[in-house]
Amino acid sequence: QAKLTGKNRYHLFDDAYDRQLRERHEGRECIRHALARQEFVLYYQPKVDMRDGRVIGAEALIRWQHPERGVLPPGVFLPLIANDPLIVALGDWVIEAALAQVSAWRATGLVLPVSVNVDALQLAQADFIAKLSAALARYPQAHPSDLELEVLETSALEDIVAVTKTLRAVQALGLSLALDDFGTGYSSLSYLKRLPVETIKIDQSFVRDMLDDPDDLAILEGIISLAAAFRRQVLAEGVETAAHSERLLQLGCTLGQGYAIARPMPADDISSWCATRRVGTA
Ligand code: C2E
Ligand code: MG
Ligand code: MG
Ligand code: MG
Repeated sequence: QAKLTGKNRYHLFDDAYDRQLRERHEGRECIRHALARQEFVLYYQPKVDMRDGRVIGAEALIRWQHPERGVLPPGVFLPLIANDPLIVALGDWVIEAALAQVSAWRATGLVLPVSVNVDALQLAQADFIAKLSAALARYPQAHPSDLELEVLETSALEDIVAVTKTLRAVQALGLSLALDDFGTGYSSLSYLKRLPVETIKIDQSFVRDMLDDPDDLAILEGIISLAAAFRRQVLAEGVETAAHSERLLQLGCTLGQGYAIARPMPADDISSWCATRRVGTA
């Protein structure tokens, strides 16, 4: 069929492009329905002080409990709604679910701060702060300090002036902020200086290869001393082995998150995981 015109390459390209658009559209519809049917769930991965194992918080990571395909990680469905208003609706659900969870934990005496990942499109909404403070008001048992927002370094750079203003408003509500996947976004030092975040999360790619790749080790050391100079906390993501955590401690990075400590797990599992450990920032 494509051969008919002699411009077959373009036709093939168009077909592939059409198919991509169709799949993306179908994917979006599935996600919309899944949200309505409450098929999304938050898993939690502990963040610890690697010096003594103290649990300082947990990151909420979204999963799709698909009726046929089982538990799906965000990498297979979030790309389908990138730059789509649906990512905002899903993000609203995540904040709501995290607040409900910290409230439930507080009712049982567990005070475990939860970090949620926030998409750039969410941050850019004019009503982001209003919705956030309304959500906090719906959960009076939850303290604002129970919630941390993780913002990707790359999304913080999209519109530095607007984002900085929004982040300041988030802090004014009493929440804390972390810069996620740091090191992947080429942010200049002056940008980092201006961004009001308490914590810098070192991207797992640098941590993964730090033991074999001197360049990644150098980047890691650079980020750690940068964080110290700017008086920010620094946390290493992707701590996969004891060797990683030992080396990170030697380099002065005390906070970590990764499979060597614990994998992301359902809410009930993490509360029992915490039961045998010291929890808290004091
Ligand atoms: P992230 O925020 O950087 O989260 C860390 C990712 O690394 C998680 O993948 C986690 O399961 C994984 N991880 C943790 N420890 C290790 C380790 O030791 N080794 C390795 N190889 N991986 C580790 P996950 O859950 O698949 O999430 C992927 C990304 O999806 C997240 O990266 C985040 O950017 C995004 N995401 C997750 N939940 C949400 C959400 O609720 N909203 C938004 N907007 N994005 C989310
Ligand atoms: Mg994150
Ligand atoms: Mg990350
Ligand atoms: Mg990531």
